[in-house]
Amino acid sequence: MTMSTNKPQPPLPYQGGCLCGAVRYEVNAELPRASHCHCSMCRKAHGAAFATYATVPRAKFRFTRGAEGALRSYESSPGILRSFCMHCGSPLSWSSKETRDADEVDFTLGTLDAPIGPPQQWHIYTASKASWYDIEDHHPQWPERKPEQQSPKTGDKTE
Ligand SMILES: [Zn+2]
Ligand SMILES: [Zn+2]
Repeated sequence: MTMSTNKPQPPLPYQGGCLCGAVRYEVNAELPRASHCHCSMCRKAHGAAFATYATVPRAKFRFTRGAEGALRSYESSPGILRSFCMHCGSPLSWSSKETRDADEVDFTLGTLDAPIGPPQQWHIYTASKASWYDIEDHHPQWPERKPEQQSPKTGDKTE
């Protein structure tokens, strides 16, 4: 997999966790892409203008602390689980039982400890973005979900 940056990446697995440290995770995959989701549910769940996720295969992401303790999840829509720390409230992951997503997990890139180089990025669900926020960067934007045929989930690894 080619990275869009020449900056050396820290060694795998990457470590991350919540604000208070009760939940920790590791990611054993490179993180070449990130999506900024502006949907109203992510804005509410994160208390922010948008939520930033990296998508990785489920087998490459695991909680190393708190999975049986501080980790909780909220089913924001049928089959959609948003995990968070019950102590400090950090949102940690988004996952879906939907077929096309069932083998993947989106984790919140802001909770990563590792200083990774900048991934390729895009904005999704911009049709429901916060009225007070202007997207002024050069990253591609999609009014809703990123179109299927251009999604990395369908095997397009060249972009
Ligand atoms: Zn916490
Ligand atoms: Zn969203």
